[in-house]
Amino acid sequence: MIVDSHAHLDFEPYDPDRETVILRARAVGVVAIINVGTDLESSRDSVALAEKYDFIYAAVGVHPHDAKTLTPAVREELCALARHPKVIAIGEIGLDYYRDLSPRPVQRQVFADLLVLAAEVGLPVIIHCRDAWGDTLAILRDWKGSGVLHSYSGGPEHLEEVLAMGFHIGLSGPVTYAQAPRLQAVAAAVPLDRLLVETDCPYLTPEPYRGRRNEPAYVWYVAGAVARARGITAAEVARATTANAARLFRLSGLGNKTRSRESEKGGFSDFFPIDFSEEMC
Ligand SMILES: [Zn+2]
Repeated sequence: MIVDSHAHLDFEPYDPDRETVILRARAVGVVAIINVGTDLESSRDSVALAEKYDFIYAAVGVHPHDAKTLTPAVREELCALARHPKVIAIGEIGLDYYRDLSPRPVQRQVFADLLVLAAEVGLPVIIHCRDAWGDTLAILRDWKGSGVLHSYSGGPEHLEEVLAMGFHIGLSGPVTYAQAPRLQAVAAAVPLDRLLVETDCPYLTPEPYRGRRNEPAYVWYVAGAVARARGITAAEVARATTANAARLFRLSGLGNKTRSRESEKGGFSDFFPIDFSEEMC
């Protein structure tokens, strides 16, 4: 079994076949999917998905791209949504200085404010950081809580401080790319009990599907690339990252959703051209 710790199944690319994509994930042993909100509307949609499917959980938050949409009324509704039993994190929140879709001072203020909200409701955070390491780390130094740096892009040089602050590292599709040796070095260096795997679907599609729409079933390819970087099996990566996600996000009942090895193997080999089935736990 495996957990996709970051997905956006509420997004429009899944409108034609959302149910099929979700059932395909379950058929290949994905035992939990965390669907992550990017603004108020997608936070609401994430909660609705989590209400519909027992193995989908929701995070609610405002992405740095949308930071300028955080009004007091939006914050109040996010705070109410955060108390829903299937909401297990505040996210995604953070800083993105690569695209700069909200002014940087607004991004910083909203990030800090949503960290306060996470502390108020007692939830971990899912952090997006792109080309903003100095300010992200400066803001996190003043905050006491747990969470994950999702789709980690920081390279090995920021790892020590992020790990010392107690954060987890989320790895996604780019770790499968041949031209990403820095990410593979990160995959090898992070302590196994601090790693999460994710798809960030519909974005960041792993090899061998790069360029097409991503989906939670492909999280196995991320686990496979992490396993290769560490010289262990995909099953070990899946087992460890599932336990880490269950602990960090307090996913109750995850152990009850373990599927039999046989049923996983069947579903898996039906779907995947690369056979990891021997490595699945
Ligand atoms: Zn995301």
